[in-house]
Amino acid sequence: MRNWTRRGLLPAAALLALALPVSSGLVPSSTAHAAPRVTTPEQFFGFTLGSEGRLARWADMVRYYKLVADRSERVLYQEIGKTATGKPFPVLTVSSPANLAKLDRIKQINRRLADPRGLTEAQARKLAAEGRPVYLLEAAIHSTEVGTAQVIPNILHRLADEKSTTVTEILDNIVLLIIPAQSPDGTEWVGDYFDQTAGTTYARTYPDLYQKYIGHDDNRDWFMFTQPETKLSVALQNDWKPQVVQNLHQMGSGGARIFIPPYLSPNDPNIDPITVQQTNSLGMEMSRSLTAEGKKGVTWGSTYDYWTPSRQYMTYHGAPRILVEAASARDLAYTYTSSNGGPIGPQQPDTNFIEPYDQSSWSLAQIVDYLDTTVFAGLSNVAKYRAEWLFNFYRTQRNAVNPGAGKPYGYIVPADQRDPFATYELLTVLRTGEVEIEQATAPFTANGKRYDAGSWIIRYAQPYGRFAKTLLEVQHYPDLREYPGGPPQSPYDVTAQTLPMLLGVRVDTVAQPFSASTTQIRTVRPASPPFPAQPGARGAYLVGPESYGTAMFIAALQKAGVRTLRASAEFSSGGRAHAPGTLIVEPTAEARAALREVSRKTGVPVHAVGQAPRVAAERLKDGTRIGLYRGINNIPGGWMKWLFEQYGIGFTEVVADDFTGDLNAKYDTIVLPAGISRNDLVAGLNRDRYPAEWSWAYGVGEAGWAELRRFVEDGGTLLAIGDSVATARQLANLPITPALPSDEHEFYSPGSILSQRFDTSDPVAWGMRPDTPVWFGENDQAYTVSAGDVVSSFPESGEQLQSGWLIGGEHLNGKANVVKHRVGAGLIVTFGSEPTFRTWSRDPSKLLFNAIYHGPSTSVQPSAVPAALLGG
Ligand SMILES: [Zn+2]
Repeated sequence: MRNWTRRGLLPAAALLALALPVSSGLVPSSTAHAAPRVTTPEQFFGFTLGSEGRLARWADMVRYYKLVADRSERVLYQEIGKTATGKPFPVLTVSSPANLAKLDRIKQINRRLADPRGLTEAQARKLAAEGRPVYLLEAAIHSTEVGTAQVIPNILHRLADEKSTTVTEILDNIVLLIIPAQSPDGTEWVGDYFDQTAGTTYARTYPDLYQKYIGHDDNRDWFMFTQPETKLSVALQNDWKPQVVQNLHQMGSGGARIFIPPYLSPNDPNIDPITVQQTNSLGMEMSRSLTAEGKKGVTWGSTYDYWTPSRQYMTYHGAPRILVEAASARDLAYTYTSSNGGPIGPQQPDTNFIEPYDQSSWSLAQIVDYLDTTVFAGLSNVAKYRAEWLFNFYRTQRNAVNPGAGKPYGYIVPADQRDPFATYELLTVLRTGEVEIEQATAPFTANGKRYDAGSWIIRYAQPYGRFAKTLLEVQHYPDLREYPGGPPQSPYDVTAQTLPMLLGVRVDTVAQPFSASTTQIRTVRPASPPFPAQPGARGAYLVGPESYGTAMFIAALQKAGVRTLRASAEFSSGGRAHAPGTLIVEPTAEARAALREVSRKTGVPVHAVGQAPRVAAERLKDGTRIGLYRGINNIPGGWMKWLFEQYGIGFTEVVADDFTGDLNAKYDTIVLPAGISRNDLVAGLNRDRYPAEWSWAYGVGEAGWAELRRFVEDGGTLLAIGDSVATARQLANLPITPALPSDEHEFYSPGSILSQRFDTSDPVAWGMRPDTPVWFGENDQAYTVSAGDVVSSFPESGEQLQSGWLIGGEHLNGKANVVKHRVGAGLIVTFGSEPTFRTWSRDPSKLLFNAIYHGPSTSVQPSAVPAALLGG
């Protein structure tokens, strides 16, 4: 029994109960003997995992993992943190008792190999011979891909109990870490819902987000590190430096039976070639095992690519990502059968699809079986070639610290930045990825340019320089086509991740070595600008609009009930020029406390002036009532909800029921996230297929649709984001027309960063640079506008692409993106592309927050500003 500290606190009866099967009253015979074998999953769960229509529940699986750790000398159970809802996040460690007794030494060797500076090749060989590769297996990343969770008890039991040569070789040579569910919350919800709907006519698949905020995007979070589950997995990887990471997934039901790397083109060139080849060879090893066992329908080099770091943290840290995608069954756990009675999936063999699947049905048992084969094939290979895996890991990392010609020397983040909060967040992302950051202790010159003391330096030649490079550089995604002259070959996800653009931070690339006196940064902290003295009773606090952290100031001031204005024009005060959008805040103790707190968190400076400025302004509505529309399984809205909570924005989720009453009585501003069509809004979830707990998503009906229109006409503000602009356009007959060709031959922007021109005098664009680039994804649109205020548009000519991939950029020339429409007494702001895409796009998030508070605010004449601050 290891690391299950609660054991000692449990009464004997509870301990006995733990050993009992869940659904039968039988005591396994093994418990009667002195040296019991480990309870099998069948004994514990009362059925074979993968059985038709049955799913082991998450809570029971956790009890089983604890039981196995309790019974086996080969397994440790640990809870390494909490999920987004505060539930335990477990990790299993599996190896031989001898290895488990020296985990610290194993970890130490891995760390040394991960940072081979000062290590000779001979020393590395010795360490590789002594060490044990660490193999991280992540399951149930996507909770409805249920086979990936169900297979883990089988894998664990076999490793914990079997005395075969195969298992002994694995245990002696590998340390296996298992994350049995990357989203434990979702695994619980999906399993519970499946059980609750058994024997009903309801749909069996949990219909909502299966991670509190971001659902399926929980594996698109591997460079911004927003969610607690991501942070835990990254911390685990940073701690152990695994040599292999295998991710278990399921895909659609109708294609190949399983995908295993090699990936489809392209690879991110920042992944070390050795890592790519390790990926290819281990993937092929798994495919070979499946084929040898008669398991057909295996594909590689299709659908899934090796491009975006949002899906792959480990590849920049020396380990291949082995993505395994098994075909799904029907309704999670029921056999899928082909509609025509013939074999499922493509039937044309190819070099990357050796044996088509020849059966007309596909069951959960087969999913479990196929996944099990891949895991044991991977483990056996790494065990057999243990020292080679470790030595190749060393070589990968040696390449990182000796990158050779053709690579940048490094990156400089100048101390003097427009947005200190963005700079703090960018550096924090890099540090979380274990990138070494130095800070200059004196001014220095690089590439002929002088930099202030306090500037940050990121040298490329370091263990995780490749992670820094992929996030700091411009992406040049290759122009891949299905066939010459054909449509674009879709990337599996997006094509750009250039953080300096997304966050609005100036970062210079330096090709040649330079010298600077520096100190190494361990933890990145926000800047700490001096906080001003209390202004007099007729004065004001001022906060510039340049940082996207300005939203946090507004949120805090609103919460504290502090009178806040925003200057509508540039003004000078206290010997300083202040941009349009500058916050003008009443000089009270409440204001001071709120401002100080946010300034500490963001590093954004606060100023104080003895005389409140006399400038045209807007007075923000006290306690602006913000509604965020909640759509079922709406991932963009989930990301926004997370961002709103992070920034302390006071908001309520808007659901169908709200539309039966007076929306204006509840809300000043309603945000319609991307992904909400008129039909989603009006019809919603089918009430015959989903029980009453989902009534909030049943749809607002035609009356609700009319109420939303009335809400705007009566003075409400509606923000429509991305493809939901089409919904707002229908709602209010907005005078905008989609401008982009729908044919992908002509126009294609699969998640790229594009050029933009802002009217920074417009309240929606306050604080933006005139040319801040924007995110533009596959479902986004640009518009021709016949009336309304254009807040931002694409340049009239020139290069539209800033980073990623774009076909037909000329179709964007001069077209509008963000537009303001007066509708009755209210306001609709349409955002053709998502200003807060996955919260990666942070600099443009100002647009969203500006618009939220702008709609309900009132104009104040210059002479009336002092009085407005005093509550006039
Ligand atoms: Zn998946």
